[in-house]
Amino acid sequence: DNTLHIIGGGMAGSEAAWQAANQGIKVVIHEMRPKVETFAHRTGNLAEMVCSNSFRSDDDEQNAVGLLHWEMRTAGGIIMTTADKHKLPAGGALAVDRDPFAESVTATLTSHPNISVSYEEIDALPDDGQWIIATGPLTSGKLADAIAAETGKEALAFFDAIAPILYHDSIDMDKAWMQSRYDKGETEEERTAYLNCPMTKDEYEGFIDALLAADKTEFKEGETAGYFDGCLPIEVMAERGRETLRFGPMKPVGLTNEHDPQVKPYAVVQLRRDNALGTLYNIVGFQTKMKYGAQADVLKRIPGLENARFARLGGIHRNTFLNSPTLLDDQMRLKSKPNIRFAGQITGVEGYVESAAMGLLAGRLAAAEMRNEILGPVPHTTATGALITHITGGADAKTFQPMNVNFGLFPLVEGLKSGRRGRKDRYKAYTDRAKVDWNAWLGQSALDVA
Ligand code: FAD
Repeated sequence: DNTLHIIGGGMAGSEAAWQAANQGIKVVIHEMRPKVETFAHRTGNLAEMVCSNSFRSDDDEQNAVGLLHWEMRTAGGIIMTTADKHKLPAGGALAVDRDPFAESVTATLTSHPNISVSYEEIDALPDDGQWIIATGPLTSGKLADAIAAETGKEALAFFDAIAPILYHDSIDMDKAWMQSRYDKGETEEERTAYLNCPMTKDEYEGFIDALLAADKTEFKEGETAGYFDGCLPIEVMAERGRETLRFGPMKPVGLTNEHDPQVKPYAVVQLRRDNALGTLYNIVGFQTKMKYGAQADVLKRIPGLENARFARLGGIHRNTFLNSPTLLDDQMRLKSKPNIRFAGQITGVEGYVESAAMGLLAGRLAAAEMRNEILGPVPHTTATGALITHITGGADAKTFQPMNVNFGLFPLVEGLKSGRRGRKDRYKAYTDRAKVDWNAWLGQSALDVA
């Protein structure tokens, strides 16, 4: 039976189905909604946007996600071409009218002669046939159990825990200083990877009070499954005892305040460089469920961060994702059951666009295999290639966390100025190179449309 079965008709499953069907492959999408709901979806539509209605930047010369848009459009992707039809004015971002968008994707897919949709929950791993699992961050419980049984429990995560990230130029360096704990680090880069903000006893006590009083987001049903101790939210640590943080992420040991070397800080908040350019820093160990407004207020109490601007606030989300670097091959197949591919957020990418892109790739790879053809690897220099290279091999399996597409994943273009001043030219060079390489890859994979 030469049918491709896709579990999950979200961003990734919809795109995978479209790509394979257009290459002459019969596709069945197995989608559990509307019969079985998730806490985030509201409709029975395919490709429902669960939260924001934005596909983020549409700039394909200066932005990695914009480049991913371009690559998907060039490949005739259904998510991008439908988004373009339902675009709302939003400056440089691609925002869409969400319901007509999802209705239109649903109508286009269900009227495709090669696609049918079976509205059912799949709760076990299939033994044979060609399958793509694209069940997303909210994969239903039984299927998640079946996946965990196959991959081993440690290889399937249920949460991501994100610490707040802020702009370096908004940190007050008259109060903060750079130093790694016990001056550890081999290279200059490692030694300058950390920034420290000191607290007196009074400041610490005030901070704990503010933390305990702050507004928090409650876990939604199905989200409460235990946190593992390595990623407790800071407010939960504070609830366990007023000193817990001082013996945890805020411990003041191995550090000397260069502004006041004689006085030992009572507690220290550490920040770690978050990108190669050094423009972003995250607060170490500060994952949190505080609401955004309260979070910014509480964090600005930290000496040195009074005027901090945040690139991303912290959060802890229900997110089912695989340890792809150990489990998937470069064809996105489960190594232990190669008739099953994974696509979308469950592979450890983050975001609508990235999820759809991984669906596009999985659909094309499956279609090629089913036609007994071999599709060469997507060049690492493209946005799609940078992502797939990261999740199936480039990332460190031990610390693997979901990833957005960004230029940090791209191989360098040689001979360009580094640092802030060369940035515009660098990004343009990345995107120019990506477009050439993507077109070449699409060309070698251009199969006749049946
Ligand atoms: P989904 O789009 O979730 O699709 C998976 C599909 O599989 C769903 O339709 C589901 O019903 C179905 N399914 C699950 N289990 C089964 C089963 N056993 N049998 C059959 N069908 C099944 N990303 C952004 O870019 N912007 C945001 O604002 C954003 N907000 C988010 C908010 C929440 C609450 C969550 C959970 C995620 C959010 N994301 C956001 C992250 C992510 O990019 C999206 O969830 C995206 O939709 C992922 O695409 P996907 O195709 O992998 O999964």
